[in-house]
Amino acid sequence: MNMMTRCPICSSSELHAFFKVRNVPVHCNSLWHDRTAAQACARGDIQLAICASCGFMTNVCFDEELTSYSQHYDNSLFFSSFYRDYAEQSAAELISRYGLYQKTIIDIGAGQGDFILLLCRTGQNWGIGFDPALDPARLADGLNEHVLFIRDNYSERYSHCKADLFCCRHVLEHIQYPRQLLSAIRHSADGNEEAALFFQVPNSHYTLSRCAIWDIIYEHCSYYTPSSMFYTFTAGGFLVQEIVEEFGGQYLSLYGLSADDPSTNEPSSSQAWPDLLSDFQNKADALIDQWNARLQEMKKESSTVVLWGAGSKGVSFLNMVEMANSISAIVDLNPRKQGHFIPGAGHAIISLNELARIDPDVVIVANPVYLNEVRQLLRQLHLDAEVMSL
Ligand SMILES: [Zn+2]
Repeated sequence: MNMMTRCPICSSSELHAFFKVRNVPVHCNSLWHDRTAAQACARGDIQLAICASCGFMTNVCFDEELTSYSQHYDNSLFFSSFYRDYAEQSAAELISRYGLYQKTIIDIGAGQGDFILLLCRTGQNWGIGFDPALDPARLADGLNEHVLFIRDNYSERYSHCKADLFCCRHVLEHIQYPRQLLSAIRHSADGNEEAALFFQVPNSHYTLSRCAIWDIIYEHCSYYTPSSMFYTFTAGGFLVQEIVEEFGGQYLSLYGLSADDPSTNEPSSSQAWPDLLSDFQNKADALIDQWNARLQEMKKESSTVVLWGAGSKGVSFLNMVEMANSISAIVDLNPRKQGHFIPGAGHAIISLNELARIDPDVVIVANPVYLNEVRQLLRQLHLDAEVMSL
């Protein structure tokens, strides 16, 4: 494996490393039936670097060969009613913004089809969903009436597929060289300046400014701030209309058109970043120390502690914080994850019923946006645990 030496967006060789973590699981959302196998999962190193020219951030140690997605991969968030409400609202806004009625929509990285189904049902649209991890047995109900599913990565070979909207949520951060994907879309949209784009990625400004290190995972080789996302898309030949922070600031949503906008095609300065990045590693190390101390204290008090959320943040926390081995179990609303084990750390993933049996003293919620939903569910289960978040 060769370390990346040039920025994949602007080709600058000025990549400055600012955060390192070794030996983390390569896949946070892979499903393991067996604890020993989960603990022996593939691991890799993360070394985040920022491009001094365009502000793009990347894991220079990323090795694409280690990451192969399969149907044993599941990162669906649609089991949370809070997330479902958010997705429904997001789909409705998108349909209204671009007048998407009886149009064609391409969804790149469609998962099990939940979001494209929302778009197609609400606006009577026709969809094409691409996802190499598609499991035909788990497709969202009613998908076949509206959506053609292609079990593959979207690439240049599909640029003959035309669409009125290119939707791509939580995919770009997994792609080491995003310009290839954007170029394929660019070719597909040639001649149709009205073709719209909706891209959503984790907001790295949120990650860095809040030292949310649990969001830094091996699967994410690319990290976007509003300015680097803007540059990536304008350099890719698109007109960026708006980039907004959503989902409690954790996501960046880009709305754009396939019309070119050469006037804005300059890398933005990353001058605002050095202060934030210069002591990021120290802050991250201090945060890990704090959690080790807190969990040590809880162990001393013989508290039963569970973590809520077997997604990326939870898996990352369990693998970065040594004392997390004192956590009893991980609860997750996604029934497909229950009964499985956390990659690397090896904790069991349990259901709400099992949580009620455990009757925990402390519930640590991996993602703070779900705090209210978790408190409500705990009340319904008559569980009186102390609730905190990462
Ligand atoms: Zn760059």
